[in-house]
Amino acid sequence: MKTTTCRSCGAAFGQPPLGRQWFCPRCRDQHRASKRAEEARSRRGRYERYLSLGLCPQCGRRRDSDWLQCTRCLERKREARRQSPARPKRAAYIRSLARRRRREGMCPRCGCEIDEPGYKTCSRCRMSARDYYHQRHAGQPEKKKVI
Ligand SMILES: [Zn+2]
Ligand SMILES: [Zn+2]
Ligand SMILES: [Zn+2]
Repeated sequence: MKTTTCRSCGAAFGQPPLGRQWFCPRCRDQHRASKRAEEARSRRGRYERYLSLGLCPQCGRRRDSDWLQCTRCLERKREARRQSPARPKRAAYIRSLARRRRREGMCPRCGCEIDEPGYKTCSRCRMSARDYYHQRHAGQPEKKKVI
């Protein structure tokens, strides 16, 4: 194996079969670590710059939601949360609970008796679902000004 002298620390080291290295493995590791730290620093700087410009700090695109991040980044975050291990258990529990209630002719949301036949949920739950829907969709709140 051919050996080379490290250009940084002067130690002799063996060359890999392919390519050519100028620095010994230790110096390369050090170099890589400092580069990673540099990247983390610049990421942080970018985050703050985007934020101050009113852009999505995650990707730098125009923010199109009322949140700090753009809808794409929010969606990605939501997806990641959905795939986290704590989530499926709870969702499965809620699903099985709702299924059982429905089988017993009860409101799957709150477990009370359905007071108006023909509906899948009780009138109270229907009302609150409607309120929730209106809150979300009717009269969208004004976009928050950030700066
Ligand atoms: Zn070295
Ligand atoms: Zn984004
Ligand atoms: Zn109900």
